[in-house]
Amino acid sequence: MWRQAAEAAMAFRRDIPTRSAAPKVDYAAALADFRAPVPESGSDATEVLDDLIRLADPGLMTATGPRFFGWVIGGSHPAGVAADWLTSAWGQNAGNHEASPAASAAETVSAGWLLDLLDLPRASSVGFVTGATMANFTALAAARSEVLARVGWDVERAGLFGAPEITVAIGAEAHTTVYAALQLLGLGRDRVIRLPVDDQGRIATDDALDIIDALSGPAIVILQAGQINTGSFDDFAELVPAARSRGAWVHVDGAFGLWARVSERTTALTHGVEGADSWAVDGHKWLQTPYDCGFAIVRDPKAHQRSMTISASYLPTSAEGDRDPTHYVPELSRRARGFATWALIRTLGRDGIRETVECHCACAQLMAAHLQLEPGIEVLNDVVLNQVVVRFGSDLSDAEGDAVTLATIAQIRADGVCFTGGAQWLGREVMRLSITGFETDEDEAARSAEAIVTAYRDVVRDHTSAAS
Ligand SMILES: *Cc1c(COP(=O)(O)O)cnc(C)c1O
Repeated sequence: MWRQAAEAAMAFRRDIPTRSAAPKVDYAAALADFRAPVPESGSDATEVLDDLIRLADPGLMTATGPRFFGWVIGGSHPAGVAADWLTSAWGQNAGNHEASPAASAAETVSAGWLLDLLDLPRASSVGFVTGATMANFTALAAARSEVLARVGWDVERAGLFGAPEITVAIGAEAHTTVYAALQLLGLGRDRVIRLPVDDQGRIATDDALDIIDALSGPAIVILQAGQINTGSFDDFAELVPAARSRGAWVHVDGAFGLWARVSERTTALTHGVEGADSWAVDGHKWLQTPYDCGFAIVRDPKAHQRSMTISASYLPTSAEGDRDPTHYVPELSRRARGFATWALIRTLGRDGIRETVECHCACAQLMAAHLQLEPGIEVLNDVVLNQVVVRFGSDLSDAEGDAVTLATIAQIRADGVCFTGGAQWLGREVMRLSITGFETDEDEAARSAEAIVTAYRDVVRDHTSAAS
């Protein structure tokens, strides 16, 4: 059974180069295949695995492939996957240092490596969470705790009813998961000041400074490293010190963008980000760990711990220096994410991580340049990182361009050479390219750009013949 799983996994990866980039079936078909009555009696585990492999296969996205650009999804690097298999086989509960000394130790060491690689304050604490969504949540819980503690309110004990109000200021094009975190924390999705942004989704610094300079009382300012569509960065060097001088806690969502710090070609984009109070970053995007893995990084470990600690008489109390992973994340029992993180950082090394980031940024440039050679295709963003925002039918009316853009994305998926995503940007339909999988290189990027142009030409041909 163990071998069967390993062989199926290897066969899947071996077939990636020739597999369609899109799943073969949609959700409804996958559901119809899986649907069955509750099993009343058990089955042989090898047969069950065979069935799982057969039923899942047609509905699997080729997200680990070299031509997947649909969302910001990493490649689940084999080194991380293998470590993750062991993590499951070992069955470690990473809650505290007694339940698994090894899991706690791997986290402690990986946390130190992450702070070094990302060049963030070395005394920060790091929580190993499921992804940037929970990293944003965790860091903002620490922020909520600290800004209220400073005015004498203990939010962990007393809750938010009757608490002094917290002002939250956030860029208007922040990632939707930051709003989700605010919604979960009782800070409200709509009860925020939306800082105005420019056409790259970047906070408009001068306008924002006027707002930030007027802040008083408990306040949290949320900035972004790597906008989900354009890859743009807020102006940390100006905004971070201004917000902190007003007593605000500054949180940065850098799910993928913070990794720009590993390369001297892109690190300037993040200049000043190290002055913030907390950061969210993903492992399962640019670091290529398997799902799920993200990091909540907080400058003040006391605020981080205060907001997350779960204590009970049956749980160990940590001595100075012991790491109890639960003190930095919402959960008690959880997966030992430190093992895959440790394995990936060791396998790639600083050089490998840098090369991955640089290669993907070069791929984005290459694809943007190639696409723009075609009349009617327009790149709408400054390609500063790994994100490209593309409009098709740019010579047509807005409504026709919307239709052609949606039709081109559908055609690309049907062709199956590469997989791209859609979004709305500045009120219009666009295609987004996110280059984050370790298998993607410049050849694959060029081949994909070619396939995108071909799909667009096919759509235009149909569009023109339908109109005449
Ligand atoms: C992906 C992403 C998130 C959410 O991260 P998950 O890993 O999906 O939880 C948050 N912010 C940004 C900018 C992202 O790209």
